[in-house]
Amino acid sequence: MDQSNIEEIVRQVLASMQGRDLNASYGQTPAAGASYAGAPGASYPLPTKAHVAVLTQLGHFDIREYPVPALGDGDILVKVEGCGVCGTDAHEYKRDPFSLIPVALGHEGTGTIIAMGKNVKKDSAGKDLHVGDKVVTCMIFHDDPEITVYDLNKQNVGGADVYGLLPDDDIHLNGWFSDYLFIREGSTIFNVSDMDLDSRILIEPAAVLVHAVERAKSTGILRFASRVVVQGCGPIGLLCIAVLRTMGVNQIVAVDGNMQRLEFAKRLGADATVNFADYPNGIEQLTEGVKNAFGGYLADFGFQCTGNPKAHSNIYKFIRNGGGLCELGFFVNGGDATINPHFDMCSKEITLVGSWVYTLRDYVNTFAFLKRAKAIGLPVTELITHKFPLDQINEALDTNLAQKGLKIAVMVNQ
Ligand SMILES: [Zn+2]
Repeated sequence: MDQSNIEEIVRQVLASMQGRDLNASYGQTPAAGASYAGAPGASYPLPTKAHVAVLTQLGHFDIREYPVPALGDGDILVKVEGCGVCGTDAHEYKRDPFSLIPVALGHEGTGTIIAMGKNVKKDSAGKDLHVGDKVVTCMIFHDDPEITVYDLNKQNVGGADVYGLLPDDDIHLNGWFSDYLFIREGSTIFNVSDMDLDSRILIEPAAVLVHAVERAKSTGILRFASRVVVQGCGPIGLLCIAVLRTMGVNQIVAVDGNMQRLEFAKRLGADATVNFADYPNGIEQLTEGVKNAFGGYLADFGFQCTGNPKAHSNIYKFIRNGGGLCELGFFVNGGDATINPHFDMCSKEITLVGSWVYTLRDYVNTFAFLKRAKAIGLPVTELITHKFPLDQINEALDTNLAQKGLKIAVMVNQ
């Protein structure tokens, strides 16, 4: 082989590599005004700067500008469309219990892939990923990233991080309250291009309920014909009702102290509601109220969806002998609850399961739940009662803390 042949081969190899490299931005900050062509019909200008809402002190976000870091071969750049405000964000905003300040918050987000490294081919459920696809993230595994691709059976989120609760680092684009999110290699990501924007914003909180109902089913007590009491009608309790209804459970009683929430509980599938404010004379009277709502019966199964220890003590009274209970209201430490082990558990033979967060498997089921709920006409996306632009994120958090509305969302690039 003579010198000119070698040169020709090298030239061809370089040309083909360049062709492939169109699918990645390699190790350089993209040039201003550069654009990227990926999936057929999709073309996105590559940003050089991102605007991130950073919680810089208790009760205050600043919008900070950071350069968009260079993408590695396994990284993805997402243009954010929106992100829900979670109770966890409100805890961070008020008290910083995880000592993360300064932190980029926002974990209930969704957006569009605008660039990705050459090694990115599939999402965490095995679906193809392209530039232009709508995605959500789940968790980031540092120990064994392979598990995110090949094993959806990981039992708990322990040991994993999530975007929106990461310590600040030199990437900075770590939370969904931002106009761009940098998704690093080893993250879980799902292609949800076939879902509308508001449904995508509700995936993360809805996954908590899909997981709780799976935990409840493990008792063998929750069935189609079961009488189910759901205590607490914030976004979590309301989504619980929608999941149960979508599965075919149709004797659901919702318990809360807020009429507006109880009315919405009915629209999401509750057959009857009990406002505990109408029962000021104690738990015996309230129990009668729940029993009447079921036509004279106690519940077969209960879901406890408030963070109030007193509510945990109360819910045992609503459940029949041999019934079941899923406690999911305490994502963080809410204090101790008192029960009477003889009356509440032993003599009743209650089967109790706890539920916390979700697994990767639950995420995939959550997509099915949200699509099915929409198909049967449940107004799940009406849970989002308030929308704020990114530069009003402080107002968004204050609205959440004032307990106005149900789910608050921050909308970006809209
Ligand atoms: Zn959340």
